[in-house]
Amino acid sequence: MTEALVLTHGGAANDAAVADGCQAACAAALDALGRGGSALDAAVAAVVVLEDDERMNAGTGSTLRLDGSIQTDAAVMDARGFGAVAGLEGIKNPVRVARAVYETPHRLIVGRGARELALRVGLPEAELATARAREKHAARMQTLGSGMFAALWADVPQVFWQKAAQAGGACDTVGAVVRAADGSFAAAGSTGGIWCALPGRVGDVPIPGAGIHVGEAGAVVATGVGELIWAELLCARVHEAMAGGVPAQRAVDDAIAAVRARHPEVDVGLLAVDRRGGGAAVTAQMPWARAQR
Ligand code: ASP
Repeated sequence: MTEALVLTHGGAANDAAVADGCQAACAAALDALGRGGSALDAAVAAVVVLEDDERMNAGTGSTLRLDGSIQTDAAVMDARGFGAVAGLEGIKNPVRVARAVYETPHRLIVGRGARELALRVGLPEAELATARAREKHAARMQTLGSGMFAALWADVPQVFWQKAAQAGGACDTVGAVVRAADGSFAAAGSTGGIWCALPGRVGDVPIPGAGIHVGEAGAVVATGVGELIWAELLCARVHEAMAGGVPAQRAVDDAIAAVRARHPEVDVGLLAVDRRGGGAAVTAQMPWARAQR
């Protein structure tokens, strides 16, 4: 038996002051383990707490897309399997739907099918847009030139991306990595996506190897601009380093240093846990917490 270890985060570029929410999520994960739950149960329990925390961009409080809609992505993974949803609308805890997908023969279910699965397994619906998220969206749309810009993006996507990036990229996504006392690993992540994304855009969170990865050497989750995390297959790379004997902290430090060198303008954060310990690294700032027993 080993020491159980949990790390949680509240998103690259999010305010460090919300780290108390990450601590509460760690406590929920340890509680799930204490009740005999698996590493996967613990990762899900942690992310449910973060999704219900309105200060985070996941579940309630998710960011609005360019058209004012909310579409969420979430994933769960352990060394045995993977389940994810993308473009899910109006369900309180997307990570629970990802957990339900994990139990099916499928790996990723999107849109209407994901919502139908959620309702079929009895998961509650919710209004995910908060007043704070609506205000942020309105302010960003103002920066983008509102009506005129909204008409423009359909024809000139490049201009859209440049302007959207200037208006503020990723932030506040949530994630958790867990090592249970039996040495098994799991990870979970959930997000409303990046600010002012096109409807239907899917980020890194529900893509194994990109925003989440678990294998025999450990568990990894990422946060930040999903397009970059995906292109770099960042979590798979960190896991590969750990499998080669690099400790978790050094593996995430190296990955962040590489991102910073190539893309100094992009916010990215990583959490990892391996057989020996855990690590967190970020290009700028990221609220996170760890707990063990
Ligand atoms: N990685 C998330 C996405 O691109 C956003 C974030 O981490 O804040 O959907």
